[in-house]
Amino acid sequence: MPEMRLIHNATLLTPTTTIPDGAVLIEGERIITCGPRVELNVPIEMPALDAGGLILAPGLIDVQLNGAFGLDFTADPTTVWPVATQLPAHGVTSFLPTVITSPLTTFEHALEVLHAGPPAHWQGAIPLGFHFEGPFLNPAKRGAHHPEYLRPPSLEGIASWSRANGVLLVTLAPELPGALEVIRHLCAQGVVVSAGHSLADYAQAQAGFEAGIRYGTHLFNTMPNWDHRSPALPGALLTDERITVGLIPDGIHVHPAMVDIAWRSLGAHRMNLVTDAMAALGMSPGVYRLGDLEVTVDATSARLSDGRLAGSIVRLDEAVRNLQTYTGCDLSAALTTVTATPARLFNLSDRGVIRPGAFADLILLTPDQQIALTMVQGHVCFQTEAVSVPEYFSKEFHSGFTHA
Ligand code: ZN
Repeated sequence: MPEMRLIHNATLLTPTTTIPDGAVLIEGERIITCGPRVELNVPIEMPALDAGGLILAPGLIDVQLNGAFGLDFTADPTTVWPVATQLPAHGVTSFLPTVITSPLTTFEHALEVLHAGPPAHWQGAIPLGFHFEGPFLNPAKRGAHHPEYLRPPSLEGIASWSRANGVLLVTLAPELPGALEVIRHLCAQGVVVSAGHSLADYAQAQAGFEAGIRYGTHLFNTMPNWDHRSPALPGALLTDERITVGLIPDGIHVHPAMVDIAWRSLGAHRMNLVTDAMAALGMSPGVYRLGDLEVTVDATSARLSDGRLAGSIVRLDEAVRNLQTYTGCDLSAALTTVTATPARLFNLSDRGVIRPGAFADLILLTPDQQIALTMVQGHVCFQTEAVSVPEYFSKEFHSGFTHA
């Protein structure tokens, strides 16, 4: 029987409502109850963590992460586990490891790694399942994807791609011949399908939406230009209420003013910040890999030798702060884009929100929005000196790993 623990003296951002002097009661890996401290019926003897007035919010969810800390998921999918161990330092409590355009055997290998599960005594952010970005992309908008491995859309070789088998998201170019059949097939397998690395015009994008596309991968990047006579894929993504739209707010992939325009169209329930971070996230400038390609990283960006961007090096907690700077939105709205919004997209009812029954995936934020503590399924995976954590809280409560 897992013991109960209390976090109190926190400002709760659930994230849609704000509760001053709030508390969360946790049993094992889930939240039992939460709300204003005075309204919670908690035994006086309860082991408690005093949050010191800090903000308590749901843990962050990154649906596009290629690697980090010197490791690249496409080059070696087993690196999912060591990367996941360090992600709580960025407030990330669950994520979609992203495998980019590769031979089909690489995608199969990635699924085997997920099924084999983590090494013994592993703790970290939960890999919910994969984002397969490719190989059905438009060669003219391939970005940093290896041209040799791009394929025309086909059902051949993707029989194992299903939600039940650990594939949550697939990015493809809907305008390619055969794409609509692949979209319909993947949707029937429970996979969320996204438009990206695409030259789709407005009508082609809408045809993709009708076939089942519900997401757009890194809005404005590797897409047709947005023109007032030709809204194209970006215009279609921004205006269709069914679509959730990914965006990289590192200040380099998209101009801050364009982020603000997208924000006004999408709002917190349709905009989804992603890092699209690569191996150099959390590392010094230098030369790193993205799949098969060599990428040179400076203080702010990651680029191929010809200057094309090759993923970002932005942290997800930094992305949340950037969105507020670019748009003037509040913290609660910015957090929604990386908590409740992706959770709803993937139908993860017990993540991305602070409510009774949800996983205790939680972060504590300082007044300047730095991560002070990250808890994954009831287990403290990261903490700073900004908060004093009783030893009791550091006991292991994970009941085991299961992907979504
Ligand atoms: Zn991409």
